[in-house]
Amino acid sequence: MQTAVLPQQDKPVLSGLPWEALREILKPLPEFRVNQVFQWIPRGIASFQQMTDLALPLREDLEKRFSLYSTVIAGRMEDPDGTVKLSIRLHDGAYIEAVLLVDGAGRKTACLSTQAGCPLGCVFCKTGTRGLTRNLNSGEIFEQFLHLRSIRPDIANIVFMGMGEPLLNLPELRKFLAVLTDTRGIGFSKRRITLSTSGIIAGIRDLADQGPALGLALSLTTGDAALRSRLMPVSWCNPLPKLKEVLYYYQQRQGRRITLEAVLLGGINTRHEDSEALAAFAQGLDVVVNLIPWNPVDAMVFEGRSLREPSSRELAAFTRRLEQRGLKVTQRLRKGRSIAGACGQLGGASQEGYSRREAVYTEGSVVSARINA
Ligand code: SAH
Ligand code: SF4
Repeated sequence: MQTAVLPQQDKPVLSGLPWEALREILKPLPEFRVNQVFQWIPRGIASFQQMTDLALPLREDLEKRFSLYSTVIAGRMEDPDGTVKLSIRLHDGAYIEAVLLVDGAGRKTACLSTQAGCPLGCVFCKTGTRGLTRNLNSGEIFEQFLHLRSIRPDIANIVFMGMGEPLLNLPELRKFLAVLTDTRGIGFSKRRITLSTSGIIAGIRDLADQGPALGLALSLTTGDAALRSRLMPVSWCNPLPKLKEVLYYYQQRQGRRITLEAVLLGGINTRHEDSEALAAFAQGLDVVVNLIPWNPVDAMVFEGRSLREPSSRELAAFTRRLEQRGLKVTQRLRKGRSIAGACGQLGGASQEGYSRREAVYTEGSVVSARINA
């Protein structure tokens, strides 16, 4: 998107509006005109002037009344492994991050944020140390996708594994998904979208009942209830037995295999009893376990101990024990670590934009900084 300057914010923003909402705001324009505008927005155009199939007076009228977008790329970093991380500035000056990951087969996955910060404070996650600034609106989520697509057009998958807890922002997430999957526009397949949650029971039930049918990943971390509450405070009011019940319910309603994610913290949740507890939690559910070796974040301490990555022996032993219990186990690829763009490392650009040590940072323009290149 060529949005070098932040748009004026005194006008309503069109990006991220579902088709029906767009029709409402553009009244009395006929539906075929609404369709045209709906199709232009995802192209990341510089202004309404580029909507060449609209008559000039209409383009000018729209320009006076509306803004197309509300965010700009404030910084860009690339890891030699292909990962791209964008720092994105919101209209009120808050910053968020969005990441593009490339797997071994060259498939591209957009990892999107749903909140600026996160209120849940998991002890191993950088975003959690920031607290919550605010929920993102549908347009701000949509524009992360558009910004990433302007860099790599062929995005195959979307995961909500960036900053924030998606199930605490379901209304705006649903609007975004309505726009993204609408066949009058991008028509992105729901099957290629995965939502990761720390385990908000009411949100999972809501999703099971009202949809949309997305892939669901639960950040289990450990099946040991007491340890989980110490690592993830959200677990105090969303206890494991109830969480398991609602996963059953989701599976019955949506008929899809669930992913259990476990970020592995060396020596803390990699013990024999942890693999046993994880296997016990998984029993009876149709799941695949995704192990995520903890990605380092500076100065993270848990009950007086510095967090560390699991050793390759710990990781191999943990995997083997789960497999012996009949579980299907995958391991998250270590991607984007040199640019702090891996899981749990987002949130560095809270106030001041990217630190100059990490990247060249120029307000309002797209700057590419190749790290280690
Ligand atoms: N809030 C949601 C989604 C964003 S976090 C959730 O918690 O699921 C996405 C994933 O990153 C979660 O599975 C989380 O456990 C994991 N994670 C957080 N911090 C991490 C870190 N430092 N290293 C590796 N994974 C981390
Ligand atoms: Fe929030 Fe997820 Fe990080 Fe926990 S792991 S603090 S829920 S973003």
